[in-house]
Amino acid sequence: SSTRSSVIVVGAGISGISAAKVLAENGVEDIVILEASDRIGGRIRKECFGGVSVELGAGWIAGVGGRESNPVWELAVEQNLRTCYSDYSNARYNIYDQSGKIIPSGIAADSYKKAVDSAIQKLRNEEEAEANDDANINGGNDSNKITKPPSTPKTPVELAIDFILHDFEMAEVEPISTYVDFGEREYLVADERGYDYLLYKMAEDFLFTSEGRILDDRLKLNKVVRELQHSRNGVTVITEDGCVYEANYVILSVSIGVLQSDLIAFNPPLPRWKFEAIEKCDVMVYTKIFLKFPYRFWPSGPEKEFFIYAHERRGYYTFWQHMENAYPGSNILVVTLTNEESKRVEAQSDEETLRESMAVLRDMFGPNIPDAIDILVPCWWNNRFQRGSYSNYPIISNRKVFHNIKAPVGHIFFTGEHTSEKFNGYVHGGYLAGIDTGKALVEEIRKEKEREKESQTLL
Ligand code: FAD
Repeated sequence: SSTRSSVIVVGAGISGISAAKVLAENGVEDIVILEASDRIGGRIRKECFGGVSVELGAGWIAGVGGRESNPVWELAVEQNLRTCYSDYSNARYNIYDQSGKIIPSGIAADSYKKAVDSAIQKLRNEEEAEANDDANINGGNDSNKITKPPSTPKTPVELAIDFILHDFEMAEVEPISTYVDFGEREYLVADERGYDYLLYKMAEDFLFTSEGRILDDRLKLNKVVRELQHSRNGVTVITEDGCVYEANYVILSVSIGVLQSDLIAFNPPLPRWKFEAIEKCDVMVYTKIFLKFPYRFWPSGPEKEFFIYAHERRGYYTFWQHMENAYPGSNILVVTLTNEESKRVEAQSDEETLRESMAVLRDMFGPNIPDAIDILVPCWWNNRFQRGSYSNYPIISNRKVFHNIKAPVGHIFFTGEHTSEKFNGYVHGGYLAGIDTGKALVEEIRKEKEREKESQTLL
């Protein structure tokens, strides 16, 4: 059987929910939200671990304290969400080598400065190469400028710094809208209700809920969308369990990784310009591994919150955080892996990952530390509803890619973190993108109605 509604929203992460809310607030209420997993939130996801609530996906509200107010921070303040200020800047002074010695702050600061300079140089070279390419395309002649090669990191300390600079905080290399617009501060969400509490509150504004549970049958969980048949008359959505839903429009909020995978078939296929834009955007994998200990053996205190392990393999259990600021007495450490290391760890057993983490910790803190009593390894890469953690546009990417990733294809509208030109990769990016797409569709529906009216009066 099939039912027809005005709009189907695919995905109930922050962008899908915020888009649906805009629709509902503008009188488009016959909507259906199809979510593949058994909960809303998507990449905002808490789990109980070691007696506290930990965030497997987004953990920070990034960009606070600046000239403009971060809308997600506003939601958090409104809901009294418990947060904790994080100061990453100290991380570089807590670099351990493999024999457990802390790199002297002078050396660390020098290496850091060198790495920043080199990254800036690399960026300039790339910009220049790009400009030359453009000049050549436009018939200009090769300027043959000699560009200074950036130095490549070699020692474990240099590799560790390179890792935190490129895989975490490029802000020192090039301006990032999140920090320029909203401020440089970052707050870790440390609330038993979870980061996703903000989403439930948002959903409550337009979906029927009772005792904190969404009971509105316009939200359908465990509905994996596998096919979108679209024409100028509307869209037919087919789910894995054989259900068929029809609507005038679809808002597709699945991640860039899912768009790149073959989970959803488009019939007819997406046009070439769309397909190519989707292929151009990189997917970043970012994995926070949680480890629970019987007692604390690491230095605590705010300026010790983050520490770094310098190893000859780049990104090998490099970036560590203790959770004592967020949850005192929880005895939990978090180590963050990215990209190839994330994929490697997802493919092996948790026991193996635990063994590797313990060896690294014993390098830093000596052989007598206790074994972890629990481990949690989230899998964002092998999750077929995610296929990665967030979009990662090339630093020098042309605006056309953004435009094409976001642009609708007939009656299919696109949203999600990856469609936010300024704030892609962040929760507020997803939130603002949802509002944007919601508004664009409301406008489209209004125009459509006007056209209908006109054609009727003509008759
Ligand atoms: P999603 O949350 O992915 O929502 C899309 C939804 O679509 C999902 O619920 C998914 O299940 C569903 N779906 C997928 N395929 C289908 C299908 N075929 N049919 C039906 N439904 C489908 N941001 C920050 O601001 N601060 C941080 O500290 C931060 N850290 C992060 C750490 C990690 C490990 C990760 C993974 C992300 C992090 N982010 C962070 C990024 C942030 O989480 C995302 O930008 C944001 O949550 C994306 O929201 P979205 O609605 O665009 O996508």
